[in-house]
Amino acid sequence: MFKGKIGIIWTLDRICKWNCDYCCVDAYCVKREGNFISIDSNNFKYKELLRSKNIYSQGQDILIKHGLSLSLEDKLTVLNNLKGVNLEIGFSGGDFLLNKENLKVVQVASKIFGKENIGISATGVGMTIGYLKNYLDYIGQLDFTFDNIESNDVNHKQSGYNNSNLQAFKKNVNLCHSKKVVTQALIPISNTNKNADIITILYSTLKKVGVDKIYLMRTFPVGRGMKRLIDPLSREDYISAIEKYYELEEKTSGPEVNIMCALKCLFPEKWDDPCTFLRSTIDITSSGNLIADAFAYGLKGDPLTQEIIFGDLKKNRLVDLINQPKIQKLQKRIHENKGHCKVIAYINNQSAGINGFFSNTDPLGKK
Ligand code: SF4
Repeated sequence: MFKGKIGIIWTLDRICKWNCDYCCVDAYCVKREGNFISIDSNNFKYKELLRSKNIYSQGQDILIKHGLSLSLEDKLTVLNNLKGVNLEIGFSGGDFLLNKENLKVVQVASKIFGKENIGISATGVGMTIGYLKNYLDYIGQLDFTFDNIESNDVNHKQSGYNNSNLQAFKKNVNLCHSKKVVTQALIPISNTNKNADIITILYSTLKKVGVDKIYLMRTFPVGRGMKRLIDPLSREDYISAIEKYYELEEKTSGPEVNIMCALKCLFPEKWDDPCTFLRSTIDITSSGNLIADAFAYGLKGDPLTQEIIFGDLKKNRLVDLINQPKIQKLQKRIHENKGHCKVIAYINNQSAGINGFFSNTDPLGKK
């Protein structure tokens, strides 16, 4: 059984300007190539003549035509099927602000669940082209990634990604604060940003631009990241990076530093069993399916295994899906690998099938 408020991440659209090597959901990179528009991802490669001034609206139409994005009507049906459950929703992508129709989805969600229960994450391109300011009356939190000061970080291979996010955020930060929107920078810790000197610059840059909170994450070997281009970090690497952030927070009194569930297992004295998998969190895919976890995606952005797909929210109510025996059976097993991230445990033990989620195979978990 789920207890208390459920946190849902909803991958609203996978359209994006960027083509990051570590994209968890294998987003669809839309770009202009001369007179053509191209779409690139592991799952879908496509090219056609450019017909619109706005490549993202043409890109979005192509994705809908190929069944790779829901129509507005379908999204509103999903929203309607979420009613009756105590929820907070984090809308993410891709960069769903590139699809202007999504403003309507966020407005309706805000009306149903309350502004304070709605968060969005976006890149600087979405914040600019998608008019972030139009969303601010309907959301309680804005997240964006800012994880390196170098423009050619191998995590992204996309020159300008971090800077573009930061610049767009700077233009909106005052408005965010006046609308009481909490702002948060997401920092997946990796080999390219784990050193104390880089952390110091990242932290002070974010402090200077007025970010409220920093959220430290693992770099997940899921989605396109399953190819593992960079070496995984050791426990010691993670701990020393996290402690550096805490030290800076204490010294300079903010931004507030928080760490994700999959890192809390490094501090068992503070967090005994921090994984929220099917306890208090769940995920909706860009096709409207309910799946177990926001990181449980494979190379082509599909759920890691059929066994963690719980049903189509275009056709079923959430309250019915979360109370089905398939979920209850998995919920009975969540204590089996206390202190392990279930998704990373599965990635390291895929041959065990669904049992992999409950095996002691997260290298940061308890031995
Ligand atoms: S499976 Fe991993 S990412 Fe998901 S809730 Fe558990 S610790 Fe967090």
